[in-house]
Amino acid sequence: MTRIFLVIILLFLSGLNRTIVNVNPKDSAADRCVCGPQLTYVILVEFADNPRTSSLDSLQAKFRDINASFFRQSYGKMWLTGAVKGWFHSDKRLSSFGRYVTKWEVTTDSALNLLGAAESASGLEQDSPGKKIFVVTGEAWGFAFENRGEAVVNEKHSIGVWIHEFGHLLGLPDLYLYAGEHGDPTGWSDVMGDTNAVTFSGFSRIKLGWIAQESIITVDAKSLPTQVLSIASLDEEQPKSRPSKIVTGPQYFLVERRSYFLSGLRTFVFYVNEMKGSGGGILTLTGTLDWDNYEVFGSNYMSLNYVFLEQIYKFSVILLGQEELMVGTVVSGETAKLAVESLQRAAISIISASFSNRVQDLDKANASLWWAWQAYEGLNFEDANNLANEAYALAGKAVVPDSYQTSKDLIVSVGKQLWNNSFTTPEAQKLQQQVLAALQNATLAFSAKRFDEAKIHAQRASELLEVARRTEASVIGEGLESKPSG
Ligand SMILES: [Zn+2]
Repeated sequence: MTRIFLVIILLFLSGLNRTIVNVNPKDSAADRCVCGPQLTYVILVEFADNPRTSSLDSLQAKFRDINASFFRQSYGKMWLTGAVKGWFHSDKRLSSFGRYVTKWEVTTDSALNLLGAAESASGLEQDSPGKKIFVVTGEAWGFAFENRGEAVVNEKHSIGVWIHEFGHLLGLPDLYLYAGEHGDPTGWSDVMGDTNAVTFSGFSRIKLGWIAQESIITVDAKSLPTQVLSIASLDEEQPKSRPSKIVTGPQYFLVERRSYFLSGLRTFVFYVNEMKGSGGGILTLTGTLDWDNYEVFGSNYMSLNYVFLEQIYKFSVILLGQEELMVGTVVSGETAKLAVESLQRAAISIISASFSNRVQDLDKANASLWWAWQAYEGLNFEDANNLANEAYALAGKAVVPDSYQTSKDLIVSVGKQLWNNSFTTPEAQKLQQQVLAALQNATLAFSAKRFDEAKIHAQRASELLEVARRTEASVIGEGLESKPSG
């Protein structure tokens, strides 16, 4: 069983007479997989001017957490072996490596000097086997030399920084921008773009060979619309399978789904330009979509963010359900967007009517809305739009039913009378229990805004109360009559 994780949308640029995405299985890069055990040493080095503040135990725990994260994100394909070693003491001072060693602008020279000091403190040869992550004291900036298989982080760095630098050792590029303010065009979607994120996007997972070619649907932007596609979340487990090809073309769109906070799934649409290179903006988040069916009662805010429209390359991504989407033309996207707007408007209108007790004939509006959703999920966006507009109109016409006031008055009145009457005879007390039960049913129906039903229960409660009162009176009367006189 192969689950589909990603959709790649192929682009054909005018003036370029070839497909932009190269999925040639003979491409040497295509068979690359960073899989299996990765021998890794984490080496703890304390500089003379910065006493350590972390214990070996706590850094070992961090190493285990990172290993677990790699194992999960690679779908069980990659894990770390090796050990955490240290602390080692260096006679060098961190400040001796220059003022930029604690800044993003860290120079190659100062980085190599720091690395050299860390190596000699630990007694480790640079060409000894395994990848090495030096964890140093002080505010040293994190960096990595992929060709040497060595990275540096400081002991206070978050797991995100460790995973980011390790990502470089695995061959991943920076996805944040070197220019300007070093912004993250991935919108926190990839730890290579922002270390506040701790996971890799589909793009990086493809690069590492963790997502197999057969788990990717490739859609040709020239042959739209595409039939309904079902894609799984990136967070789901994938059965171990041999990864094969990766997409190596320079420009394409990538669609992926993953869990978002605790609530559900979010669909991400990325533009990928591999001509850009590390730090040049390879991966750009161009849109997100959410399929949320959360409770909206009590709030008139509702956001149905189901349609992504790409105006330059002329295609749309339309969400149809938790797992389903369609890659369509701009025209189908615009029709779908219109339908979604109408659906949202109708839903808000129905909620608002219900909120203000205008429930008479509101079931007709609800039925129209239901049919509108059926049409939407069946890709009949025009029908969905029409039905949603009908639902909106019906909700606008809904009025407060007479039974609202009647049932409310009856519930209040029966409640008061029950409070003021005390029944002493067993017959009347039994009836009183029935009054209470009917009143409870009336209250429940009322709070659920089923006012007609509430009225029936309240009337029943009122009638029973009358019977109880008469029963009480007659039993007491009989008792008086049979009382012996004298
Ligand atoms: Zn980096």
